[in-house]
Amino acid sequence: MAYKTLSEEETSIIINKGTERAFTGEYWNHYEDGTYNCRQCNTELFDSNTKFDSFTGWPSFDNTIDGAVKEIVDADGIRIEIVCNTCNGHLGHVFKDEGISENNERHCVNSVSLTFAEKV
Ligand SMILES: [Zn+2]
Repeated sequence: MAYKTLSEEETSIIINKGTERAFTGEYWNHYEDGTYNCRQCNTELFDSNTKFDSFTGWPSFDNTIDGAVKEIVDADGIRIEIVCNTCNGHLGHVFKDEGISENNERHCVNSVSLTFAEKV
């Protein structure tokens, strides 16, 4: 599948690993049945039934769709960056062992990195 042509804002986050401002994205407060797909390559990344309110202002998921998301050490050497396993587009970061969700993981994702696809 062809990759989407990215806007300037999408490029700054997906390619240049930026972070959208909290509480400004399209999906931080979005709760519908469906999947959240990679904005760049449209691979399904997160199921809506793993989304939870982390009160951080970013979409948060306590699990990924199997094999869709890759974890790498962030450039800061501390955090774990998450990228799309298909196109390597930047998604956000994963935080573990916080004890705030069932699976004990918080995948903190930029709305700009995602496209929501309603369950049909
Ligand atoms: Zn992708």
